[in-house]
Amino acid sequence: MSLTAPYDQNNIFAKIIRGETPAIKIFEDDVAIAFMDIFPQSDGHCLVIPKKTGATNFLAADPADLGPLVARVQRVANGVVKGLSPDGVRIMQFNGAPAGQTVFHLHFHIIPIFEGAPLKQHAGKKADIAQLENLAARIRAALAVN
Ligand code: 5GP
Repeated sequence: MSLTAPYDQNNIFAKIIRGETPAIKIFEDDVAIAFMDIFPQSDGHCLVIPKKTGATNFLAADPADLGPLVARVQRVANGVVKGLSPDGVRIMQFNGAPAGQTVFHLHFHIIPIFEGAPLKQHAGKKADIAQLENLAARIRAALAVN
């Protein structure tokens, strides 16, 4: 999908926002939802998305929406670090299919890095749901006291 393709209201993240597709949520407010990536690259890999639909990617977003959204990304990343104690954390996002984007609703990846544990493939193998729930519970608990 090109950088300028129109927004599809039936993309998987729009369905998660509307509650039509389940997600293991770790954070939600009026601006953003964060949930566990179902095909994680590392333990604790999660995504932060704006609740507002319409922006396929970072470049297409209203600049006024980015400050509040990035503040949520930072808040969730701090919760991930506090809850899971990784050695590092990658925060990234892709724009356009040639850049690696596979879901065309603006989102940020939060990918904890554990020394000695290689990252898994991007959008690769489906996680064990019980393990995702366990990681999510630890992140939620950390966010609750942040
Ligand atoms: P992108 O490739 O667009 O940067 O990232 C999309 C991310 O969404 C990928 O990391 C992929 O694993 C994740 N993903 C795709 N479909 C689903 C889904 O149905 N549920 C969840 N929780 N994550 C998904």
